Amino acid sequence: MENCIFCKIVAGEIPCYKIFENEKILAFLDINPAVPGHVLVIPKKHFTDIFEIDDQYLQELIVVAKRIAEKMKTNFDAGGVNLFQSNGENAEQTVFHFHLHLLPRKGNDRINFSELLVNAEKIDNMKLEEIKKILGE
Ligand SMILES: [Zn+2]
Repeated sequence: MENCIFCKIVAGEIPCYKIFENEKILAFLDINPAVPGHVLVIPKKHFTDIFEIDDQYLQELIVVAKRIAEKMKTNFDAGGVNLFQSNGENAEQTVFHFHLHLLPRKGNDRINFSELLVNAEKIDNMKLEEIKKILGE
């Protein structure tokens, strides 16, 4: 897609620090990393977000992410790895080409995902039941 920075990386118009590539998937280092070793895994085909991505691509992509996470753990001394992914402006997506973030965590970094949960709001059982009906099968 025109003017998509990730499509330009796929096309080789913008260089990247490539970690993995096959026919469908590309993984590369984020040049503005949250932590050293921050990797982005993307489908080579342009899909905006989780709502658009083809199931087959998503399945292949998550397996590639798993392999990279394993390498982060065994070869990069990461005690843990976070995977996260944003969809839509309200979710703070900034590049509108599906991408999955992998963050190798070594402790003592400045990331604090647990803050999300510490600041979680209490919700009553009726509301939980209502949401379950909407989101459940
Ligand atoms: Zn794109």
